[in-house]
Amino acid sequence: MTDCIFCRIAAGEIPVKTILETDSLLAFHDLNPVAPHHALVIPRRHIATLDAATPEDADVLGELLLAGAEVARLLGCAETGYRSVINCNQDGGQSVYHLHLHIIGGRALSWPPG
Ligand code: 5GP
Ligand code: ZN
Repeated sequence: MTDCIFCRIAAGEIPVKTILETDSLLAFHDLNPVAPHHALVIPRRHIATLDAATPEDADVLGELLLAGAEVARLLGCAETGYRSVINCNQDGGQSVYHLHLHIIGGRALSWPPG
């Protein structure tokens, strides 16, 4: 039993709308989407933040980015465009401390972020 919500999602203890899954990753729809398309890609293995990642995590980090691009294609927003985001720690706006990649698309996004 863990109190990490994304570890519990990866273990199948909390239902999500899955988009794709591999041995090392899971992608699913965000519970509170900020755009018409908003997905999260998580490593199954617990890594708290991008800052906590180590060289041993290099493979899974690469897989995470590639899976994010695949998720955008599956959602149909790859050609129109999307934002891939990893929020890190407090000032980065991270609220769940299990590394995750946001894939956000389906509308024009402003820059810089707030
Ligand atoms: P962060 O703010 O940490 O970068 O992003 C965390 C994201 O996880 C938020 O967009 C939030 O809506 C999403 N989230 C939090 N809890 C759940 C959950 O139980 N299920 C799903 N599908 N998304 C969640
Ligand atoms: Zn976790």
